[in-house]
Amino acid sequence: MNSRICCPNCGNAAYRQLLDIRAPDSLRCGDAQVLKTECPVCDYFLRMGWGSGQVLEAYVPCRSVIPTTD
Ligand SMILES: [Zn+2]
Repeated sequence: MNSRICCPNCGNAAYRQLLDIRAPDSLRCGDAQVLKTECPVCDYFLRMGWGSGQVLEAYVPCRSVIPTTD
């Protein structure tokens, strides 16, 4: 699964990808799938457990441009 979304940080075109995780050390929260969001414009990066919604890893380069939607 690979879809285009609006970057939650800068609002430009970003990509969301659902990854199957096989490595045991990646199963920290018991999820077999991880949702990855990446923005090539501002370097925003987020990895989240698909089942639990728990954020595993996140990088927000510039917080000052986060839109107020949602
Ligand atoms: Zn962005």
